[in-house]
This record gives sequence, C-alpha cells and structure tokens, in this order.
Amino acid sequence: MSDGKTPKTVVMIQCVGSRSLKANPYCSFVCCSVALKNAQLLKQEYPEMDVIIYYIDIRTTDKGNEEYYRTIREADVRMIRGKVGELTEDDDHNLMVRAYSSLTGELTKIKADMVVLSTGMNPSKGTMEAIEVLGLAKGPNGFLTEIHGCLKPQETKNIGIYICGCAAGPKNIPYSVSTALAAASKAAALLSHKTIIQELIIAEVDETLCSGCHRCEKVCEYKAISISDDGIAQVDDLKCKGCGVCISSCPARAIDLKYYRDRQFEAELKGIGQSEIDSSQKESTKIEN
Ligand code: SF4
Ligand code: SF4
Repeated sequence: MSDGKTPKTVVMIQCVGSRSLKANPYCSFVCCSVALKNAQLLKQEYPEMDVIIYYIDIRTTDKGNEEYYRTIREADVRMIRGKVGELTEDDDHNLMVRAYSSLTGELTKIKADMVVLSTGMNPSKGTMEAIEVLGLAKGPNGFLTEIHGCLKPQETKNIGIYICGCAAGPKNIPYSVSTALAAASKAAALLSHKTIIQELIIAEVDETLCSGCHRCEKVCEYKAISISDDGIAQVDDLKCKGCGVCISSCPARAIDLKYYRDRQFEAELKGIGQSEIDSSQKESTKIEN
C-alpha cells in the first residue's frame, strides 16, 4: 500500500517467477534491461534515492546493453548478487528485504520504502485464445511455436498465419519490431502470388461410410475437419497437412489420404518387392553365365 510519499530506498528484485523450475523455467529476457533503465531514471530524477537491485546474474545480451549496464553500475546503483529469501511488511507498512549475497557470503537486510518485482513474462490471454481458435501449436512454455526456430522462425503450421513479438516468447521492443517486419514480409510474399501451391496428399472422407462420430475432428491438431449439418465429416483442403492421424481414429475406415490410399501404398510395396526379385534374378543369371 502506498503512503503517497517519495520513497527514499527502492529495492528491485529480479527473476521473480522466472528461471525457476517451480515457476517459469525460462528467462523473461527483458527484465534486466528494464530494471537498469528504471534505476537510471530514478537516479536522474532523485539523486539522493538509494536504489538497490538484487539479481541472480544480469542478462543484458542485446546490442549496447552491456555498456549500458556498466554505466548504471557507475551511477551509484547498488547491485547485490543473490536471491531474496524473505520480504516482510510491518504494521506501519515498512518493508524488510532479507537476502543472501552470493558474492560476499553475507546475509543482507534492507529496509525499503518500495519494492519492485521483475515478474516473469507469460503468454498473453490473446495468444492463448489464438492458439485455441486457430488450432496453432504451442511450446512447453505456453507460447506459440514456429515450424523451425532457425529456418522458419515466423511460420506456423497453418498456411498464411505468421507469428512475431511476444506471441512466440519474451522479447524486447527491437526484437519484436524485427520479427513483426519479418512476419509482414512473409505475408506479403504469400499474397503476391496469384496461386498458392497446396500439398496434394490430404485427407478425404468417404461420405457413404462416415457416421459423423466426431472422432477425426477431435484428433486433428490442425482443426482441418468439421462435421457438416448432414452429420458428415468434411476436410478443409487448405488446413489439412496430410499427417494421417485422423485415418487411424476412424472406426468406419471412412478416411484415406488422396494419392496415398492403402491400395496405392500396397501397389508401391509390391512394385518395390518385384523390382528386388527381378534384380536378384539378374544377379543369379550373371553368376551362372
Ligand atoms: S471418425 Fe470416421 S466416421 Fe467418425 S466422423 Fe470422422 S470420418 Fe466420420
Ligand atoms: S490428415 Fe492430419 S491434418 Fe489432415 S485432416 Fe487428418 S488429422 Fe487433420
């Protein structure tokens, strides 16, 4: 609770809810730089203010940020390496921060007027809704996941849907802007073509066999199947990726993959078997000769 007075001592605590197996195991990426910026602004505005930052290790990996970190240290901001063990408030709303300094091995105790927590970044409500509505893939941390982190960092498994910014994980503003530009150029490139090349091996439903049981609809990760008003499964050709999962779920064997039907596959296997027999026969003829 605020008493409305300008605080004399401000303590910032880094990695609250981040880099912990009990909370978010990942680094939230921006908090170190943001805390340093806030510390600098406070010292500029209130030079007498005591500003202390508790940290595990400072991660200032972006361009120019390491130099910025050195500047802040020289600006009389106290940096204490160590995890805060206890934060208490007395009846007069005075805050007490107790922590172990891993550099000096001492237990520190600081009375603070204000404590600022650098809390971990989580996927937004909008990101979670997009995952649900569009049937997009999410990673173990709940953020959207791309097809390939190095080669296709903006593409999702759904054609025409690209990701950028914090939807794919914690990012600072410059990184968010560059991923947004990349996603926009990917979308523009797609729209610049008169035709879209679509994979031919996609699911098709035999309407005479389908009973509309919804099983295929439930297992399709790409949300490519819906059940029509007539109770028949329908495949969205643009969404289907030909993964074949729906085929094994269908109790009526009503689904197959176009150009990859059982009989086509069996014919292919037969063909391979026959060509092996032919070549071994040729070999044995050569030896006999
Ligand atoms: S699982 Fe088979 S029977 Fe059930 S809705 Fe899908 S295609 Fe129709
Ligand atoms: S083949 Fe895969 S992507 Fe296509 S409808 Fe079946 S489960 Fe969905």
